[in-house]
Amino acid sequence: MLLWGPPSKFVSGSWDPKQENNEIRSIDDGRTADRLLNWINKQMGSSYGLDDEKYENEHLNTNISDPGQIARAVYDVEEATFTSFDIILGQKMIKLETRASLTKFLQLLVVHHPSRRCRKGTAEILVDFDDLLANKKEVAGLSQKGVLGNYQICGKEIPRGYWMFCRGSKNETRGFSCGLWVLLHSLSVRVDDGESHMAFTAVCDFIHSFFICEECRQHFYDMCSSVSTPFKKSREFVLWLWNAHNKVNERLMKEEASLGTGDPKFPKVIWPPKQLCPSCYRSQNSKDNHIDWDHDEVFKFLNNYYGKMLISLYKDKEHLRDGQTGGVVVEDLAVSTNAVVVPVGAALAIAVASCAFGALACYWRQQQKSRKPRRSWN
Ligand SMILES: Cc1cc2nc3c(=O)[nH]c(=O)nc-3n(C[C@H](O)[C@H](O)[C@H](O)COP(=O)(O)OP(=O)(O)OC[C@H]3O[C@@H](n4cnc5c(N)ncnc54)[C@H](O)[C@@H]3O)c2cc1C
Repeated sequence: MLLWGPPSKFVSGSWDPKQENNEIRSIDDGRTADRLLNWINKQMGSSYGLDDEKYENEHLNTNISDPGQIARAVYDVEEATFTSFDIILGQKMIKLETRASLTKFLQLLVVHHPSRRCRKGTAEILVDFDDLLANKKEVAGLSQKGVLGNYQICGKEIPRGYWMFCRGSKNETRGFSCGLWVLLHSLSVRVDDGESHMAFTAVCDFIHSFFICEECRQHFYDMCSSVSTPFKKSREFVLWLWNAHNKVNERLMKEEASLGTGDPKFPKVIWPPKQLCPSCYRSQNSKDNHIDWDHDEVFKFLNNYYGKMLISLYKDKEHLRDGQTGGVVVEDLAVSTNAVVVPVGAALAIAVASCAFGALACYWRQQQKSRKPRRSWN
């Protein structure tokens, strides 16, 4: 049921639908987004439309120099993990020749995925997966969603069906591939020195076997193949992945500019931009834009950005849940963020409407209070 009224009335508690002159009313025609918006427009004398791009993208934070934005990406990392697995099953990509790559990547996720529920979900899959793999004849069956589709790789709340940090300003931009990059970077900063080469090959083989974009797969694999000496330090892997991503960015910067295929609100850049990490830049040539990176600083920055910062919101959530007190508050926060992301213009119109209505009610009450009491002889 959808209700309409001044915000203060919702806070104050009880609502009796039968009470006359009730300031909270139920919206009786909100079955579709269109009808709901019509209803709101009638109340407000406004003319919001579902295609109002201005409202749709108003909350998109395109401020690339705001490091705090990455905390929202932990949700995208979960979404990307689910989507990868879903594509693998849906496209029947588990074959005799690819199953080892999947196992290796799942092993990496079990230990180093930044989300606890994805680590748990992956572990559940791996336990049974190993048993099934023991019998080669089962591999064809494994590709069927019916067999592995019952597993929830990141728990029952995932997929949410939308992107947060990785949300593009157009439907066809960003999303999954952005979430996958963030997942890979977040894994790279979590592995120990001794695991770095194993993690590198797990990532390379996974992309080569399972990334649906053929061109991307090939390019990435070429970059992987150019590594001739095994990594001994996690730093080498972290910086290699960062550099590989920048090579892709550089290529796409030109491609997107000429074909107009990029997201206008999120143009590709050599990353991190100076605003995000000034200390990463030793110098930049003003003629050809060549950057002399301070690799120690870049490594420090990546570690912090994809390490601590990425999970800052998530950690709070876990902490509060464990404490059994503030869980609801944080859940509420997550829900209210969803509400902004999903129903586009309608939700914003509702928010505007309820604020306006609240302000009017408040003003009216002030007027009532400040009126002098009438004297009976007047
Ligand atoms: C492995 C892989 C290979 C790909 N290869 C191709 C390809 O060959 N051709 C193609 O058209 N598309 C390719 N894609 C998709 C493409 O790279 C983008 O993911 C897509 O265009 C969406 O871009 P985006 O603006 O969301 O930012 P993305 O490039 O997806 O980046 C996501 C986020 O990562 C951060 N970031 C950006 N650069 C770096 C960096 N160097 N190091 C660390 N973090 C960074 C930024 O915060 C950015 O918002 C590939 C994707 C992946 C995962």
